[in-house]
Amino acid sequence: MGKNVYKMYINGEWASTKANFTDYNPASGGIWAEIPDGDRDDAKKAIEAAAAAQPEWAAMPHPQRANYLLKAADILERRQMDFVNALIDEGGGWIGKGMFETGYTPGIFRAAAAAVYQMIGEILPSDHGKVSMVVRQPLGVVTVISPWNFPLLLSSRGLAVALAVGNAVVLKPSEETPVSGGLLIAELFEEAGLPAGVFNVVTCSRNHVADVGDEMITNPTVGGISFTGSTAVGRQVAAKAGEMLKKACVELGGKDALIILDDADMERALNAATFGTFMHQGQICMSVERIIVDESIADEFIERFVEKVKTLNTGDLREMPNVIGPIINQRQLDKIHGQVTEAVEQGAKLLAGGTHEGLFYRPTVLTNVTPKMRVFQEETFGPVAPIITVKGVDEAVALANDSQYGLSAGIITRDEEKGLAVARRLQTGMAHVNCSSVNDEPHIPFGGVKNSGVGRHGGKASIEAFTETRWVTLERGGRHFPPPFVVAPKG
Ligand code: NAD
Repeated sequence: MGKNVYKMYINGEWASTKANFTDYNPASGGIWAEIPDGDRDDAKKAIEAAAAAQPEWAAMPHPQRANYLLKAADILERRQMDFVNALIDEGGGWIGKGMFETGYTPGIFRAAAAAVYQMIGEILPSDHGKVSMVVRQPLGVVTVISPWNFPLLLSSRGLAVALAVGNAVVLKPSEETPVSGGLLIAELFEEAGLPAGVFNVVTCSRNHVADVGDEMITNPTVGGISFTGSTAVGRQVAAKAGEMLKKACVELGGKDALIILDDADMERALNAATFGTFMHQGQICMSVERIIVDESIADEFIERFVEKVKTLNTGDLREMPNVIGPIINQRQLDKIHGQVTEAVEQGAKLLAGGTHEGLFYRPTVLTNVTPKMRVFQEETFGPVAPIITVKGVDEAVALANDSQYGLSAGIITRDEEKGLAVARRLQTGMAHVNCSSVNDEPHIPFGGVKNSGVGRHGGKASIEAFTETRWVTLERGGRHFPPPFVVAPKG
């Protein structure tokens, strides 16, 4: 496949920069595209364009604003394979993952279109007989910084409702997936006829990301920030935003537990564990990263799990059976392999995987894992299943909560009441009984607690995140001032 040369999208125009950076295909190691290496000035220009376009955008009648999002959804469906190809080639995703992501994202745009009618305020009773209103208004310019693992879905989740409620947006996709996570989305909105400046995409390499990122947070015109990515970077983003008293919604890393209780349906447990751990090579924020299984059923679970894991194929990602793609880059692969080898040195048993060819890491199963190991405590973001056995519900809950993270969780049990009771005891933003931790829908409040982030994306939560609440009153003569302040009526 030939190399593609891209431009950035600022103020409705395609712009090049002095230098480009290379977008690699992680499966082949080859160069896939050349991308503009934007800098602080480009970010500034995009923010200025957004600020200029925003008032008219916010004043536009609701159905018109909604219509752009509906059109973008339709165009995405028509151009599905352009996105799927980019998700495979620059993102290292299996074709089934690309089909899922491109099938899901139009729903994000359509749910956002409906949000134009959900900027709902309140009329409050007033002590003074005023008309007392609570209204919502857009933040102005919202910047969106997104990761590479589900680039189309996660960029769209950050920007769609922000646009719908009347903000203008500047998006900076990850340097690993600038096309599927940004430039193709700009093409959608351009074709939909979105007014210039309402949506902008700035791309840059790792060399410029500190500067570009800083501008996107600290520029005084920026009213709010949507960040999805690692805890380390998200913490810096939230700190900068906090210092400037700006709203920031930060969705960060995870170390999600799948708890398999003694009365679990075994097939359900095996399916949830296999999908939850290995979908997209474990590179999902809410991947199953710890399997906590009751000792009474652990032997059967481990034997059947390892048997299944050994059947997961790697290979040409355009073929359906090859469900395991490459790790996104060498840095990530080294981190994964480091955690696995260290765990084995510390006494963990390797029952599958633990090896790699190029960036393709074999699905890996570890038993005899202890809570002190890094593979139990730190996010792995790879195809690794650390298994730990426990006795009873209390031990399982305590172990699941023994984490700096708190994104999602899964609980497998035939007793639904017990499952919900465990869900309530877990320190996570999300919990799923009889399913894996990997679940999302466009309208739900997605997000975590502890080091997994602050704020929620999706549906009503996104409206809250990307608007300001204001109190506006209309005085009608009922408010009395102290007599010394009051003038005598004229005449
Ligand atoms: P990352 O933090 O390295 O990068 C995320 C984004 O931040 C990228 O666009 C990157 O260019 C940008 N960035 C890097 N340095 C920056 C800086 N100094 N200032 C501003 N922006 C900067 O994360 P990643 O490797 O792209 O993604 C993987 C991580 O994201 C994992 O930890 C994963 O758990 C997390 N994640 C979380 C969610 C969620 O919803 N909670 C979803 C997907 C991924």
